[in-house]
Amino acid sequence: MSNPTRVMLLVLLATATWGITAFWEPDGGPPEVDDAPVLGALYAAPVERVETHVLGRGETLDRVLGRAEIVGREMADLLLTLREYTNPRRLRAGSEVTVRRWLSDGSPRAVELRLNADSTVRLDRESLGWSGRVMVTPTTVDTVFVAGEIENGRTLYEAVVYDDKLDLPPAERAALVVELAEIYAFKLDFTHDIQPGDRYRLVYEREARPDGTARNRRVLIAEMVNQGREYGAVYFEAGGDRGEYFDREGRSLQTMFRRYPLDYVRITSSFAWRRYHPVLGRYRSHLGTDFGAAPGTPVKATGAGVVSFAGWDGGYGNLVKIRHPNGYETRYAHLRGFARGIAAGKRVDQGDVIGYVGATGLATGPHLHYELRQNGQALDPRRMRLPTKPGVPEERLPEFKELLEQRVALLETYAPTPAGPRLARAVDETERTPSGEN
Ligand SMILES: [Zn+2]
Repeated sequence: MSNPTRVMLLVLLATATWGITAFWEPDGGPPEVDDAPVLGALYAAPVERVETHVLGRGETLDRVLGRAEIVGREMADLLLTLREYTNPRRLRAGSEVTVRRWLSDGSPRAVELRLNADSTVRLDRESLGWSGRVMVTPTTVDTVFVAGEIENGRTLYEAVVYDDKLDLPPAERAALVVELAEIYAFKLDFTHDIQPGDRYRLVYEREARPDGTARNRRVLIAEMVNQGREYGAVYFEAGGDRGEYFDREGRSLQTMFRRYPLDYVRITSSFAWRRYHPVLGRYRSHLGTDFGAAPGTPVKATGAGVVSFAGWDGGYGNLVKIRHPNGYETRYAHLRGFARGIAAGKRVDQGDVIGYVGATGLATGPHLHYELRQNGQALDPRRMRLPTKPGVPEERLPEFKELLEQRVALLETYAPTPAGPRLARAVDETERTPSGEN
């Protein structure tokens, strides 16, 4: 029983006892002051009336204020004060405008404008005009534990989305699975590798608003047991404020390069030292991989680096070259066009869209030609062991170990390892080739 409920009941009991006593002892007189029952809080009559207006499509704030009968000088003053916080023209359709009025004469007391999910401007009417302040939506931090086992005929997605023990909004459950797939993108292929009997458990932190939506959320620690092998993932801010996921030994879960520059891949031609070229009509080596894709499909940088070239280059057509650390270079050819801002000197992150699939240069049809080179030497990205991103730096290891201990304790407390022999931890998984690329 929650505390307020218990207090309420005590109040009711006290009232009831007194009532009965009064009934049975009609001559007893009023009860002693000390025995007086506790009364519930008294609510003062409201001083204000609240109305909410919604900005319609194509409607201006002036119109909405007009509807709320805030006009003329009053409106001008209000808009002037509001401009210190936001440009009234930038308010979108659907924005809520709350008007609080004095009950006594109906005159406006305050106007509130929700800027976004996290902040509201409140304008209070004072004797000399309006004064404003920003109110931040309060949040609470929830820690959520998610654990389960994949049943026959179910995917990880279904297991999490239909988990009735889990207290999370449906959209956030789906987002959580996507996040998990991202964390393990370099280790596990969620669409092919997850099998019945696989297990997952994780600790998830969310900063929630009063309406239940999350402002921030993050998986703190996760563990996947896939076909008997354990894959740990711990969030740690090793370099500055941008955190990454590491395994329990402090090794990065990510490789420097993603295997593919497209989200969904259909390989039409592999890396080969000798291949008949359909356009040139002769044999020549093919130092890259061709991916068939619809024209316009976004092409993503496979690794972080700096664009060294973005333009036309003969048979390559529209080409983007990216320089990566340790002498690596990637090339993306036959592009229909470049993503906004992509030019020599531009820094890109792994997964950033750099261009769109096309058929420019020596291409028979729309496809992406992708190359990975190191020190000028062509590599076969489908077969090579992709280099891993750096792990937790030596000097941060003690800190990492301490955090890991706390996170593991959380995991073991709320989502304990099922009884049975401890599973062998996967050793170095970078050698493992993801399925679906044979
Ligand atoms: Zn090619």
